[in-house]
Amino acid sequence: MDCELTHELINAYADRELGLIRSMEIEGHLRDCPACSERYAGLQALRGAIGVLYHKPPIHLQKRVTKAVRNASRGEKKSDLISWRMIGIAVSAVVIVILSWGVVRLVSRPAESELLAREVVASHVRSLMANHLADVPSSDQHTVKPWFNGKIDFSPPVEDLASEGFALVGGRLDYLDNRPVAALVYQRRQHYINFFAWPSEADDVKKELSQQGYNVIHWARAGMSYWIVSDLNKSELRGFVELLQSRTWR
Ligand SMILES: [Zn+2]
Repeated sequence: MDCELTHELINAYADRELGLIRSMEIEGHLRDCPACSERYAGLQALRGAIGVLYHKPPIHLQKRVTKAVRNASRGEKKSDLISWRMIGIAVSAVVIVILSWGVVRLVSRPAESELLAREVVASHVRSLMANHLADVPSSDQHTVKPWFNGKIDFSPPVEDLASEGFALVGGRLDYLDNRPVAALVYQRRQHYINFFAWPSEADDVKKELSQQGYNVIHWARAGMSYWIVSDLNKSELRGFVELLQSRTWR
């Protein structure tokens, strides 16, 4: 076995497609030839990396693709024109199936919102640790709301909820999701609540998460994304969100 033949067969060898004798010959060559063995190691590493990125499509997807291709080849017998048209249709069907599968995977992927939730919690913790809750410490919504003018390109909802037991502490600028965001701070008993708002293209969603012992509530609406984070218990935090929503969109 020489280098040239090894190069030719290395993929088949990696796929375990070679017979026993050929495989043993290649193994012998890989033992003796540093260049080929390095090449083989590189190939294995690449395959490993691709294996991580590549998710096998689900069975139903495979079936739909097979069916589309089969339909196309059936049309082929009638005439060249039809067959090319059928193949075109089949190819677009396949592309659509693959795309929609990709979109579904993208949407169902939890990573993005989980990452953002982590960012939100980290920002909340930082604001408490650094004792930097507010750039504009004020319980007056008419002081806090205009403070954001000219600092960010949107106007965050600022509500006075003191009579409901959520005192406005103030507002500050923060940085989340790769952009400046508005942070409003409320207090209930000993618990601080950070309320983040920024424009986003997120769909209408509402979700609750727990991260490192903090309760997080997220919702998106009318082109804005909102995140609430606190060590306050879930039911009171939910109450806060409901109050906020009823005031902001009454
Ligand atoms: Zn070699």
